[in-house]
Amino acid sequence: MREVDVLIIGAGPAGLSLAHHLSADSLILERENEVGGLCRSIEREGAVFDIGGHSFHTPHPEVRDFVERIMGDNWESQIRDARVFSHGALLPYPFQKHFDQIPDAEVVAECRAGLEEADSAEDAENFQEYIIRRFGPGVAKHFMLPYNRKIWARDIRRVSCEWTSQRVAAPKGREEKFDTKGGERKPLQAGTMVSYPKRGGFQAIFVAMAGHVPALELGQEVVEIDPSRKTARTASGMEIAWNRLVSTMPIPDLLEIVAGVPAEVKEVASRLEFMSLSLLLMTVDDPLSDAPQRIYSADADVPPHKIAFNHTSSTELRARPVHGIMCEISYSDEKPMLPRAELEDRTIRFLVDEAGVIPSADRVVWTDLVDVKYAYPVYTHERPAILEAVRGYLAPLGITTIGRFGGWDYVNSDKCINMGIEHARVLDSQTQVTHPLGR
Ligand SMILES: Cc1cc2nc3c(=O)[nH]c(=O)nc-3n(C[C@H](O)[C@H](O)[C@H](O)COP(=O)(O)OP(=O)(O)OC[C@H]3O[C@@H](n4cnc5c(N)ncnc54)[C@H](O)[C@@H]3O)c2cc1C
Repeated sequence: MREVDVLIIGAGPAGLSLAHHLSADSLILERENEVGGLCRSIEREGAVFDIGGHSFHTPHPEVRDFVERIMGDNWESQIRDARVFSHGALLPYPFQKHFDQIPDAEVVAECRAGLEEADSAEDAENFQEYIIRRFGPGVAKHFMLPYNRKIWARDIRRVSCEWTSQRVAAPKGREEKFDTKGGERKPLQAGTMVSYPKRGGFQAIFVAMAGHVPALELGQEVVEIDPSRKTARTASGMEIAWNRLVSTMPIPDLLEIVAGVPAEVKEVASRLEFMSLSLLLMTVDDPLSDAPQRIYSADADVPPHKIAFNHTSSTELRARPVHGIMCEISYSDEKPMLPRAELEDRTIRFLVDEAGVIPSADRVVWTDLVDVKYAYPVYTHERPAILEAVRGYLAPLGITTIGRFGGWDYVNSDKCINMGIEHARVLDSQTQVTHPLGR
């Protein structure tokens, strides 16, 4: 049986970064035949798509230096051009800073008047209350409530506010909470600088990172973990003996494969909420405009809440004769998916007739639907207590969990890379090894 000090499940950003930064002996087992996890890219019909619109930006200098170092000259940056489609117009993103460009004076007046009543919503008890208090009833009614109900696909009174300072931009004329509360990530704005590989899709970052890890086995799904023997078994029958195990797979799925987990621990974990996505991919055989790069829509009749024009991610993708568009449609038990034909028809009609970004429906030459079960972790009020209970159970078994669905954290790849760096320090300090900064 192969033996390793640290066994890592998953070759997404968190697992790859951990393996690279660890001094201790490690091995990554990855279920898929390629690396990247949610940061994989899909090449179809000459176009490149990411799983949702991906671009790289980070407040962590160590992460930025690391990624820039491994990407070398395969890296370029540009200003993010995102728009909100609202009341017949494409406004700069985010709505709460640019609603005065809506071509309907009454709507603008309502948003402005509401903003005068708005407060910091510091003590809001849930996300719905936060929106109404922080942005006022006008902005809430005309964008923030319908948009957030659409994307989160659930009653947003169940959603807490702990994540908002890093993700939700302040309204026009107000200071970001980020600035006052010292949060880490800044909400995206019009004008945020973002980076992307010069060649290929977003996945190229993680393909490069995989070249810097000591041991990685692809196509090896971990199906059983025996904490008493400290072993793991894969679907193909490989057995590994480990000393410490770090999982980046979704917590509820992990608990299903760890032997002996009590039913009550599984039951607690099953209350972690997540949002799923159906991604509608389409190719257009006519090079499209350079902008916008993203469109957000709160309109219930437009199926996607976000549309990413993947070809605008880099100069190389823009230069291709076929352009790719990726539409994110969220679903949950509370918000079922539309039948595919209706979904496609309504989305294409929106892109042609309302947003005016595709010249005609017959320019769409190919479509596909991709399902992403675990797309966004949801911050419910119960989440911190559930995580504490689950991690409290796993830690004495030598099992820790990091990453987007390992940490149930609404984080981007840069933060996952940072989690890998930080967790490597913790694990290496346990083995009393001085940690080198970068290999
Ligand atoms: C729609 C969308 C848009 C996004 N936009 C951005 C963006 O613009 N910029 C950005 O930086 N980030 C973005 N992200 C976030 C980013 O994709 C994730 O934060 C990141 O990929 C999470 O990394 P991870 O390593 O935690 O997990 P994952 O990427 O989920 O990787 C986990 C890995 O574990 C593997 N695995 C699971 N179970 C097993 C098993 N039993 N055995 C072996 N392997 C297993 C999986 O196959 C996977 O490869 C976006 C995400 C989504 C969904």
